[in-house]
Amino acid sequence: SIRVRFAPSPTGMFHVGGARSALFNWAMAKQSGGTLVLRIEDTDASRNSPEWTEGIIRALAWLGMDGGEYEGPYFQSANADKHQTAVRTLIDAGLAYYCDCKREDVIARTGDQHKGYDGFCRDRGLGPGEGRALRFRTPDEGQTVVVDLLRGKPVFENAVLEDFVIARADGSVTFLLANAVDDMSQGITHVVRGEEHLSNAPKQQLLWEALGGTPPVWAHVPVIVNEKRQKLSKRRDKVALEDYRAEGYLAEAMRNYLMLLGWAPSNDREIVPWDVMVDEFRIEDVNTSPAFFDVKKLRAINGDYIRALPIERFVAECQPFLEEAPFSYDPTTFDQLAPLAQTRLALLSEIVEMVDFAFLDEPPFDEQSWNKGMKEPAAEILAAAEEAYRDAPWETEELKTRLEAIGTAHGLKLGKTQAPVRVAVTGRTVGLPLFESLEILGRERTLARIAAARA
Ligand code: GLU
Repeated sequence: SIRVRFAPSPTGMFHVGGARSALFNWAMAKQSGGTLVLRIEDTDASRNSPEWTEGIIRALAWLGMDGGEYEGPYFQSANADKHQTAVRTLIDAGLAYYCDCKREDVIARTGDQHKGYDGFCRDRGLGPGEGRALRFRTPDEGQTVVVDLLRGKPVFENAVLEDFVIARADGSVTFLLANAVDDMSQGITHVVRGEEHLSNAPKQQLLWEALGGTPPVWAHVPVIVNEKRQKLSKRRDKVALEDYRAEGYLAEAMRNYLMLLGWAPSNDREIVPWDVMVDEFRIEDVNTSPAFFDVKKLRAINGDYIRALPIERFVAECQPFLEEAPFSYDPTTFDQLAPLAQTRLALLSEIVEMVDFAFLDEPPFDEQSWNKGMKEPAAEILAAAEEAYRDAPWETEELKTRLEAIGTAHGLKLGKTQAPVRVAVTGRTVGLPLFESLEILGRERTLARIAAARA
């Protein structure tokens, strides 16, 4: 049975590309009854922090991958002995050699900044020592053929593969070695990861072979790009999963959308329940062209997921946003507003501005809304509404009928008649259905706000 792994480095905020790889791996493991291993690649001590590791684990759990869904987490730093043993094996087999070349020496010799190592120390027979890195001796002839489920069988000429560093001068091993050794010792059968690692695959495969293993099958999934077709980057784009969560994306929506980055369910469907995704997902159907991270589409999908929530869950999902809001909210009133709001949100965070009028002592003041809503004959409408609402039965239909009548008397459609009342009571020109909102807000507060707006 298959064993896949997700192997993030805890060197920053967990981002959407990592999440997509994690989901693809998870879906593969689940659909085949295989195992997903979580391996935290924490060997770069200068860039790691436990806080990033916690962030990864928390984000995975948010997406539904809690501890029961994977084996581990393993920490790569705990495998240091295995890495050193592998280094010894390679030295003993004559497949690794020490090298004291500096980067600038290599460039001076090759005359090319971009060229790899030129093999200068291959046969110098250097022993270990200060400033000496250890390089893997790649074969001079033949080819390394990588089996990639998305890309056929990319062929790499061994003569072109440089002798790459496997251990630094300080003895610490590089990612290429550690990753290959761990994949081998953890019995990984399929490596599914980002396209940026494709060029590492032949090197890692040579290490597997040199250490007596049968290399895995690879799948390098496409890069994710922004609307300008640039590779998503943390400097330019919003990439942290936490940020999406904080903005009010639902985990299910995020998970659904991330699966569409390079893959598509059949029949042009976009919104697909997770268990169906898992059944239908085929890694070999993932395409290789860059995947566009379409925030608009993500928003739309999020809105769909929000509307589909049972109301109690919707209320619960809104809670953290309401607790952070600049007002104290009353859950009973919110329960009444929630069904009105649920159909109108794309992001959970939008709930705050949608319901704030009900919890603030005075409606928020927004000059633009005020100018727009208080156009002639706003003053007359407000006066008439105040009058008509004083003794109206306090109920949506009645409130609407009375305002409609005022509009008719002024030759106005309901929309136009509503505008000044809406702005007076909620502070905004758009929002929840007005008459329902008035009913929930109550007579006293509604009348006070209309009076205040007239003053
Ligand atoms: N730690 C590596 C990364 O974060 C893992 C690469 C791989 O999946 O092999 O990209």
